[in-house]
Amino acid sequence: MDRFVDPAEFEPELNDRTLRPQLLADYIGQPRVKEQLGLFIDAARGRDESLDHLLVFGPPGLGKTTLAHVVANEMGTQMRSTSGPVLEKPGDLAAMLTNLEPGDVLFIDEIHRLSPQVEEILYPAMEDFQLDIVIGEGPAARSIKLDLPRFTLVAATTRAGLLTGPLRDRFGIVQRLEFYSIADLTQIVERSARLMGLEVETQGAGEIARRSRGTPRIANRLLRRVRDYAQVRADGRVDNTTAAAALDLLQVDHNGFDPLDRRLLKMIIERFDGGPVGLDSVAAALGEERGTIEDVIEPYLIQQGYIQRTPRGRMVSDLARAAVEGFDVEF
Ligand code: ADP
Repeated sequence: MDRFVDPAEFEPELNDRTLRPQLLADYIGQPRVKEQLGLFIDAARGRDESLDHLLVFGPPGLGKTTLAHVVANEMGTQMRSTSGPVLEKPGDLAAMLTNLEPGDVLFIDEIHRLSPQVEEILYPAMEDFQLDIVIGEGPAARSIKLDLPRFTLVAATTRAGLLTGPLRDRFGIVQRLEFYSIADLTQIVERSARLMGLEVETQGAGEIARRSRGTPRIANRLLRRVRDYAQVRADGRVDNTTAAAALDLLQVDHNGFDPLDRRLLKMIIERFDGGPVGLDSVAAALGEERGTIEDVIEPYLIQQGYIQRTPRGRMVSDLARAAVEGFDVEF
């Protein structure tokens, strides 16, 4: 199901790189991450060394990939990027590693999805900058060792809990991204609007920010659709009224909920008496995958206090009951 508030990347947005901050100074919000990383980058640059390996975790759309680009730009190096599911065989990773230039950033998205065989290759590469690989099979098999240039691995994951201990331990820097405040998202919308040559009033930006579930990717996506609305139904400028009307049309409500969130909350309230209910039962009743609920829908609802995770299952809060009251939802 396509959702406007899905934090996952939509295909057409892959081309929209213009909105991505290039330097730490343009990276809005996440003050703790910015301060720490800024310091580590300055120190590494001062010693003329590559930055330690960095693990970034947090829900989709919060700026993990952007941060990897920022690190490469700040260090004045190139970034090569790949992802856990793409690296199927040890040879796939070996090919990436042997193509690196000294100081490069290697970005691996969804690192929790690396296969154990590929992960084995990564350990000596991270620790000793050595590639240790077996070529051939049976009696003719040979192990070869190659020296690699010093590089910085920047790895991203939506779920730090799924990483093996040995892999986690090999990162010198671990950063966790938090959902953004409305003030930060308002700034992000204003910055994106400037880059798009679009006139947006602060109140209009604030309306988009409030409905973006703490997620920059969603804020930028909603901004594009609000721009369409403003162009066709108004004079092209985005003010409070235009933004609200456009977002109502998209069925994204004041809490940033879309029909799927409302279905999820109403389902737990009406069918399961508010919970506690097991995640598998919720997934089956909604016809959605368990992983989608856990990774994409729930994190924001939990962070905002709409859903609680208890040992006996999910429970909705009074806040959630109030938020979906009056909405007619079909299951
Ligand atoms: P992730 O890798 O965590 O899924 P991305 O790094 O792809 O998320 O970020 C999604 C989009 O949100 C980017 O295209 C970027 O324009 C915007 N974005 C993310 N973080 C920030 C930020 N701190 N400041 C401004 N824009 C941001």
